[in-house]
Amino acid sequence: MSGWKECLRSLRLIPVGIVGSGSLWALKGGGQSGGLTAALCDEGSDVDRRAALEVLKRYQESLKDDSVVKESSAESSSSVASELQKIEDSLSNAKAAVEKYYRYQARHILNDYYESMNRKGLSAPAPEKPAAKPNTTEGAPADEPNVVPKKELPQYLTADAAFGNFSEASSPVCVPYVIIGGGTTAWSAVQAIHEKDKSASVLIISDESYPPYNRTPLSKERWSSDDDNLSFVDFMGRKRSLLYSYSKQVGEHQRSSILLNSRVKKLDLENSSIETEDGKVVEYQSLLIATGGKAHPVESVHQDLGNDALQNRVMSFRTIDDFIALDKLVRDPKTKNVCIVGGGFLGAELACSLKRIAKLNDVQVTLMFPEPGPLFKLIPRYLSEFLTYKLASAGVKVMPSSIVTGARESPENSDSIELDVVSFTKKSLQTDAVVVAVGIQPQDKLAEDAGLEVDQINGGVVVNAELQAANGVFAAGDVASFWDSALGRRRVEHWDHALVSGRIAGDNMAGGKSMYGFQSMYWCDLSAIDVHFEAVGLQSSKLETVGVWNLKEPSRFENRPGSFSRNKYESGIVWYMKDQRVVGALLLNMPREALQEARQIIESKTSVPDDESLKELIPLPKSKNFLLVGRSDSY
Ligand SMILES: Cc1cc2nc3c(=O)[nH]c(=O)nc-3n(C[C@H](O)[C@H](O)[C@H](O)COP(=O)(O)OP(=O)(O)OC[C@H]3O[C@@H](n4cnc5c(N)ncnc54)[C@H](O)[C@@H]3O)c2cc1C
Repeated sequence: MSGWKECLRSLRLIPVGIVGSGSLWALKGGGQSGGLTAALCDEGSDVDRRAALEVLKRYQESLKDDSVVKESSAESSSSVASELQKIEDSLSNAKAAVEKYYRYQARHILNDYYESMNRKGLSAPAPEKPAAKPNTTEGAPADEPNVVPKKELPQYLTADAAFGNFSEASSPVCVPYVIIGGGTTAWSAVQAIHEKDKSASVLIISDESYPPYNRTPLSKERWSSDDDNLSFVDFMGRKRSLLYSYSKQVGEHQRSSILLNSRVKKLDLENSSIETEDGKVVEYQSLLIATGGKAHPVESVHQDLGNDALQNRVMSFRTIDDFIALDKLVRDPKTKNVCIVGGGFLGAELACSLKRIAKLNDVQVTLMFPEPGPLFKLIPRYLSEFLTYKLASAGVKVMPSSIVTGARESPENSDSIELDVVSFTKKSLQTDAVVVAVGIQPQDKLAEDAGLEVDQINGGVVVNAELQAANGVFAAGDVASFWDSALGRRRVEHWDHALVSGRIAGDNMAGGKSMYGFQSMYWCDLSAIDVHFEAVGLQSSKLETVGVWNLKEPSRFENRPGSFSRNKYESGIVWYMKDQRVVGALLLNMPREALQEARQIIESKTSVPDDESLKELIPLPKSKNFLLVGRSDSY
């Protein structure tokens, strides 16, 4: 018997009527809820919500009316046996239909969520502003309060308060829902769990000293705030907390409990338990691995940077504590130079943000990286050159094609660092602080040690479409390697992805069966140079790109190789192409609707015959309209 047959048997197949050319079936779930969980319809037709609801309705009606249908299990009914044969013939349709239904459920969860945010005015319409922030969820979390409490953590109960004297428990504590990691993914999952399971007991275990918070302002808005607490001013001018709070749907009694400053060292799949470094054992029914990523250590650039003598002036950057340390360093009157190593989004954002503080203290900001230009691995060469020009105009000292080959305390000044550098222009660099921003390492070792599959190419815990890594074990956010039906297996480090995959995982932990089929976006704010990107899908400078641009003035350099970067880009889109298909889009100063359109274009997997068609895909906003279309390889 096929796997599907078995599956159908285990789900208890219930014929509920005849529609069109085939049979209608309702599936009775074998899971915890034991209720009707999904519906299929006749062969050859698509399942959508209406069809599914129709099936449910008919099923309910049929329960009242014995003449329409008699409920029977697959094992006991002979009529079901013959119907099974029919089902086998249409297995592929049925499977697609179930998938579509689960995807629908996932979309429904998200739509409800986004709508509730819209009602609260938390999304960012601001159509007039070219740099509308992510059209989805940026800034969504903090409902209240805006002022950050310093010591108490009102949104969370401590683990001790929730589970008795947890710290001294001699036998394992058993908690239905356990989440390892306390970032955006964890926070989002907790909300979804509580929305589905009102009386859920959830325990978050985090090795940080803060409850879940939003990291994204740490390289941007947080630097424009002079407050000494953990707040920032968002793009709509509202004062917000970095720390997430619950939405109002989640009542006081549903608060989660949290164990801070506690690192999980072992995951035991056989016994469904985890163990912390200080010996606490917690048994779970459902587990979420939301361990995210850790900044590559400073030694990954050069081992000398890890020397004890330099430790107060050399740092990586990912956490609130890192922000506090760097802020203190930059404001120290002795600091006259800061060198950021790494030319990705984080490095470029920090360079722009530090310029603001730097102006106050007359601090020189250097951005150094081995590639020929900033964001070089992600964007076409001409755009990277354009950024170099803009950053340099804003006063950032840009050092492309440069690597650190040694570091020591400066012989002249023990508060300063001497870097050995290989570059076109310099052999050494004196600086008072070094920030290493060279990417993250997904925190998947715990899972790998437990025997879970880890993605050998992208890193991260391999999960299925429901974000499940093993029975009862889920992974989401930066640490998950998931299947993207449009683009293949991926692992992404986006806030939007953390938020949405966290919700889906949380919903599924509480008995849902939603599939993750979401094209997450990310954004990058280089406010000092008026550059705001949003992106969806794949971005890699190894891919062919077609740029469609509004220019601020007519191009003087059209079709002249190497000169494209001196154009002044007003707004536009870089399309990333593979096999004549759009696989990614990077939007510069475009209206917010454009991102959603780009997302749909990627998801639809339609092929685009030529560059001219790309020009029409999403029309650029009206401007003086010096339009330029070009392939990355033509300039
Ligand atoms: C400065 C900065 C700016 C960013 N800006 C943007 C942006 O503009 N746009 C965008 O899309 N994305 C941005 N990101 C990325 C975004 O913040 C991440 O994608 C998101 O935080 C991922 O959330 P997560 O919960 O999956 O992982 P994380 O935020 O990494 O959280 C994981 C948590 O788990 C903890 N943990 C790990 N292992 C263990 C363990 N064994 N036991 C207990 N706890 C553990 C970690 O300490 C951490 O607290 C930015 C990131 C940073 C650092």
